[in-house]
Amino acid sequence: MDPRHVSGQPVQIVKINDDPDDHSFFLDEAALNRILLQDNGALKDKPLCIVSVAGAFRRGKSFLLDFLLRYLCAADRHHWLGPEDSPLEGFHWRGGSERDTTGILMWSKIFLIPTGPPGSPEVAVVLMDTQGAFDTSSTVRDCATIFALSAMLSSVLVYNLTANIQEDDLQHLELFTEYGRLAIEDSGETPFQKLQFLVRDWSYPYEAQYGAEGGRNLVQRRLELSDKQHSELQDLRKNIRSCFSSIEGFLLPHPGLKVATDPGFEGRLKDIEPMFIQHLQDFVPLLLAPENIVIKKINGNVVKCKELVQFFRAYIEIFKGDEMPEPKSMLKATSEANNLASLQEAKETYVAMMESICGGDKPYLNEQVLDIEHCRIKDQAVLVFSSRRKMGGEEFSLTYREKLEREIDESYANYKAHNESKNIFKAANTPITLAAVAML
Ligand code: GDP
Ligand code: MG
Repeated sequence: MDPRHVSGQPVQIVKINDDPDDHSFFLDEAALNRILLQDNGALKDKPLCIVSVAGAFRRGKSFLLDFLLRYLCAADRHHWLGPEDSPLEGFHWRGGSERDTTGILMWSKIFLIPTGPPGSPEVAVVLMDTQGAFDTSSTVRDCATIFALSAMLSSVLVYNLTANIQEDDLQHLELFTEYGRLAIEDSGETPFQKLQFLVRDWSYPYEAQYGAEGGRNLVQRRLELSDKQHSELQDLRKNIRSCFSSIEGFLLPHPGLKVATDPGFEGRLKDIEPMFIQHLQDFVPLLLAPENIVIKKINGNVVKCKELVQFFRAYIEIFKGDEMPEPKSMLKATSEANNLASLQEAKETYVAMMESICGGDKPYLNEQVLDIEHCRIKDQAVLVFSSRRKMGGEEFSLTYREKLEREIDESYANYKAHNESKNIFKAANTPITLAAVAML
């Protein structure tokens, strides 16, 4: 595809009320569903890779995302940068008149990437942008919320920083890594997947080289534990390390004065420092090349397109109050959503298998046979539920298992009644028909 015309548009899915007295967050569930269930639901069972870019305002996050879009839209992944002279399109960058309101944006198009040679399973790649301005005290909380939300929902969190990795930047990770610590205690699973520190305008290449190698060195140094650190700083570092399956760094050089200061700059490659472009070309495939795709997991379970709404809903709910949520309530919300996702998966298994036996277009089945089939399929559905890794402990999960069994039994009652209605012999034997026959 011609990279001048990326397909799709940004869609704001998490918004904040403009009212100064009520800064509550809300989720545009219809918009999110339109994205996740596009193509007539063809994507609904695909595993997700969610790449989100988060960090302070006006640091080139959306600008970077538009290069990720170019990569995803390119027909040839080795020549994805496109022509020298095309303006950069996609998520709105540069602020100005098109500035989006604070919140989370998602790209309307989902990209399917095969994880190996042709024919191998595909992963649905979703791009998320975050938007916020640290101007007044109330918006600081908004930004922290947006940051935590995008961190918890992504499989690749690109933490976009300028000039260096500072102690403050690590502190921003505290809330959800504290949640992560509880999640590990609960289930032993690593709660988050990839944390990618991306340092923009890095100006000490003599200390650490531009690119992935230098980035890794810098991250290692910043996350190092030492006896000289206060115990809180040590704990934070330990938490960050244990919460992510992988932590990487990347150092980008300054993109040049046109990018940073020229109001007429439209994102054309010819106006960007070649060294920046060269490193950008290394960076983007590190996130999006098929061999580097990271699938979103919550508590060890792969998250599919159709399940994401549930987690969004649960997290938005806990961030609604005036205070930042306690890590404990974040764990509870995740456990609920996690059990609910397992319940739904199991219920879908039951319905799909029953449909194949006694669905609308199937002939009448002997009652006893139907009963045996129901028991067999119910067992299988319950097995689907119990074989998924769950959070919140046995007792908590038991309430969901009971709910599953109730729902399955209700569903069975419907199948049974429907099956009965197909029994023409029985229908012919009703007293009314018998009476009608007697009258003849
Ligand atoms: P966002 O608010 O973080 O999404 O920032 P934008 O993507 O809207 O970019 C804000 C401004 O930073 C724009 O004028 C870009 O041209 C500029 N910009 C983009 N990347 C970089 C970078 O790596 N370094 C510098 N100094 N400026 C950049
Ligand atoms: Mg932006």
